[in-house]
Amino acid sequence: MDIQRLLSDRARAIEASGIRRVFELGAKLKDPINLSIGQPDFPVPDEIKRAAIEAIELDRNGYTLTQGIPELRERIERELAHDLGWSFADASDPGVLVTSGTSGALLLAMLALVGPGDEFIIPDPYFVMYPHLAPICAGKAVRCETYPDFRMTAARIEPLITARTKAVLFNSPGNPTGVVASREECRDVLDLCRRRGVFLISDEIYDGFVFEDGATDHAAKSPGDRRCPSPARAPGAGEDVLVIRGFGKTYGVTGWRMGYAAGPRALLAEIAKLQQYTFVCAPSMAQWGCLAAFDADISGHVREYQSRRDMVVERLGAVTDLTAPAGAFYAFPRVPERLGLTATQLVARAVERNLLTIPGHVFSSRDTHLRLSFAAPREKLGRGLEILAELLAGG
Ligand code: PMP
Repeated sequence: MDIQRLLSDRARAIEASGIRRVFELGAKLKDPINLSIGQPDFPVPDEIKRAAIEAIELDRNGYTLTQGIPELRERIERELAHDLGWSFADASDPGVLVTSGTSGALLLAMLALVGPGDEFIIPDPYFVMYPHLAPICAGKAVRCETYPDFRMTAARIEPLITARTKAVLFNSPGNPTGVVASREECRDVLDLCRRRGVFLISDEIYDGFVFEDGATDHAAKSPGDRRCPSPARAPGAGEDVLVIRGFGKTYGVTGWRMGYAAGPRALLAEIAKLQQYTFVCAPSMAQWGCLAAFDADISGHVREYQSRRDMVVERLGAVTDLTAPAGAFYAFPRVPERLGLTATQLVARAVERNLLTIPGHVFSSRDTHLRLSFAAPREKLGRGLEILAELLAGG
């Protein structure tokens, strides 16, 4: 069968992830220093593992409600009520839907909002999935340049809004930069979207990883007490914002495919319909496992990541332009112009020295920066930074 002839334009429009190419390269290296990984390196808290195992043993292995098990939805609502000040009590209040990963929530939200000819605005640099949502929805992803400080501000978004714009995709803390939007920036982006009748989707998958300098309350010393600025915290935001969060990054369960979306019920009803005929529901045992997640304390890990962030900034800030990450576990240093190298070329040189990072073009229309993850053991991170610092200094 001539499969090539049969393929849809949609499938043809999507390229394999550049990250996967780095993984393939990495598979050829013997014990590489791998700073390309987008998931935490700490073990999954025991109580979460136990809750999932117990669910399997208790025969909770069948389909769940498409919206997710009521126990988990209620727990999420309680968390969001505390964190965002939202109420879920009445039918006119926002609702919550459990999804197959944050990716599931993002995909279904865009399918619900964007159709042929419609536009949505994404940051550049972006999380790799964002531009590919365009061919999937038959819409157009309009890139909002955020170089050199990686802040997706209302002023940068506004000129991109047209009569066809349906949504703005906002991501803080950001992948690949680790930049955290300020309270004021969040407020201004929401105000703009409200003013122009554009829906705001806030991808907050890294909300658990916010450092002292990125938090709303700088005085909150304990990561457990810290809050990440969010456009969803403005009064009445539940009517105008879809908050998308996940469990994968926060608790190290990326393979469980667990996320959730919270926002206007009218939109969630459409997303639930789409979920019913696609993913059906999020994995049952993972939903029970994640019910235990809110009681797990990951503040020690966040503290550790902040300290590793400091290592990155100290080592690389001395040799190149680097916007200090205030959250997540990524840094996005610039390849100095005077080297005359693209990021892809510099990353290839790093591979020759057994170091894996990801070139900027994977996340951007530019190839001037590279992403490194500091969710790697200290000793490896230290060795990786030495190599990178030498390469960035022209060595
Ligand atoms: N959004 C962002 C910004 C991400 O970085 C990722 C994962 N790297 C996702 C969404 C998707 O996460 P999940 O594994 O929960 O689908």
